[in-house]
Amino acid sequence: MKKSESLPSGLALRAAFLLERLARLVRAGDHAGGLAPAQWEALRYLARANRFSRTPAALADYLGATRGTVSQTLIALVGKGLVRKSESSRDRRSVELTLTSSGVALLEHEALKDLARDIDASGEADGLARGLESALHQALVRGGGRAFGVCRTCRHFRPGGRGAKAGKPHHCTLLDEPLADADANLVCFEHT
Ligand code: SF4
Repeated sequence: MKKSESLPSGLALRAAFLLERLARLVRAGDHAGGLAPAQWEALRYLARANRFSRTPAALADYLGATRGTVSQTLIALVGKGLVRKSESSRDRRSVELTLTSSGVALLEHEALKDLARDIDASGEADGLARGLESALHQALVRGGGRAFGVCRTCRHFRPGGRGAKAGKPHHCTLLDEPLADADANLVCFEHT
């Protein structure tokens, strides 16, 4: 029997059921917040994605949704004044997505933050984040999805200068682009 086909432990199953219930509570909070869960997920992604990854195609990859579904989500968000579409500064054939100030303000009080506060209160935030990261990695490997990891953990990330070279920006060797400190903590569809 292959590892992926082995029976999960009782503890792992319990954790999976708890995750399912928590996800359901967040979705209920999403509905109460006045947007569909897919619209909240798109706003959350755009708040965390770097400038290379704020495109409809990358959003579709991140959500595991079709381009058509994401297109409908974006039409709704643009119509509500929460997201702005503009021509990409890197590629004129591409569209760049940006949160408007209303989109940023709405995210200040979203349902996922309640869950994050509850996780903080459990005192297990670090171990939980590491364990879930590992589980997500396994799921993505199995399903062939992209990691969308944080930039500063990418193999193409080169840290900026310190000491005499202080002020030199970080650098992406894949895209040959400078990266600011704020960029280093955002997620990227090219992350390796
Ligand atoms: S270093 Fe990696 S994660 Fe960062 S911008 Fe480049 S490809 Fe993306």
